[in-house]
Amino acid sequence: MKINENFFNLSENYLFSTVGAKVSAYQKAHPEKKVIKLSIGDVTCPLAPSVIAAMHRAVDDLARAETFKGYGPDRYCYGYDVLIDSIKGSYARKGVALSSDEIFISDGAKSDLGNLLDLFSADNTALIPDPVYPVYVDTNVMAGRKVVFANANEGNMFLPMPDEKVQSDIIYICSPNNPTGAAYDRVQLKAWVDHAIRHGAIILYDAAYEYFITDPALPRSIFEIEGARECAIEICSYSKTAGFTGVRCGYTVVPNTLKRGGALLNRLWARRQSTKFNGASYIAQMGAAAVFTEEGEREIAVNIDRYRGNAKRISECLEGLGIWFTGGKNSPYLWMKCPRGMKSWEFFDHLLERANVVGTPGSGFGKNGEGFFRLTAFGTPENTREACQRLGEILK
Ligand code: PLP
Repeated sequence: MKINENFFNLSENYLFSTVGAKVSAYQKAHPEKKVIKLSIGDVTCPLAPSVIAAMHRAVDDLARAETFKGYGPDRYCYGYDVLIDSIKGSYARKGVALSSDEIFISDGAKSDLGNLLDLFSADNTALIPDPVYPVYVDTNVMAGRKVVFANANEGNMFLPMPDEKVQSDIIYICSPNNPTGAAYDRVQLKAWVDHAIRHGAIILYDAAYEYFITDPALPRSIFEIEGARECAIEICSYSKTAGFTGVRCGYTVVPNTLKRGGALLNRLWARRQSTKFNGASYIAQMGAAAVFTEEGEREIAVNIDRYRGNAKRISECLEGLGIWFTGGKNSPYLWMKCPRGMKSWEFFDHLLERANVVGTPGSGFGKNGEGFFRLTAFGTPENTREACQRLGEILK
């Protein structure tokens, strides 16, 4: 019996465990200090009232024989019509027309990002931005696929552009990006779409943070870009949009015009999902269907505005200190350059010890993250304000 030895090629990621261990040790040694975490990557606001009401109604449906639901409908890989229609409506408001069979409901973006790789040969090469959400690299390493990197750095504002000399088959784009908060505009994204079409590559477009975009020059879906239906798959999530990190619901759009190797990827994905997945829960789907209603959108906007307010406060603080950073405007993440040439972990220790503020060392997201640091807007406004004040005191 042989196991998948590709697992031995995964690099251990001690980022969040080391952050946690260092913070606990500091708190133990200094119980009188109030430590503020600007490192929170999870949402903190509760679910919107209309989502809660819809989930309560769904539970009641399950309690009565007449309205009970078992497995979801076969027709759209277990997605309920009401949810698929609401997602279609939300795309239509972005000027994108989708048909119902192009929308696949899932239990979140992370699973789909990993599972989509079932469609591609292990001989393909994946092009992954550095730094980025570590799941892209690890899922490809597990499959034994070759990974090459698109270098993001200060010079390109952490938005790498295509390099015609680099051949790749699967291209990852995360916009707005985790951890850098940088987001591509339409012209930049069009260059990626044209590049993918020229090279016969597929773009896996992670739009988990699209709801944070306010700038009308920035697309919220890759399908706003001409040609994307011939080269892209878009992975979306209710996690950061509507606080579903614990509920679990997302969706992936696979256009029925997307062909590679003589196969329609939409059909392959439908086959993969109906074989290895049994749908997101009815309760989660009904809650999600309430998100893109008029009332739901109004309610989630209140939560997102709170995070945006925090991001703006941190942006103003960094601007005031003359610190270079990306993000914060169309993203809950701010990606700052460590002051005085400090390395990421050095700055982490400095901030923890001197200001009792916690952030995330950029080096944990890829080699190009060294010397950078991620701050997030998911804390409370009070703590964010206080953390900014402390940053101002130690970094001025
Ligand atoms: N994609 C990115 C870029 C993320 O940062 C995250 C979570 O932090 C996810 C996907 C995971 O989303 P989900 O909760 O829907 O699995």
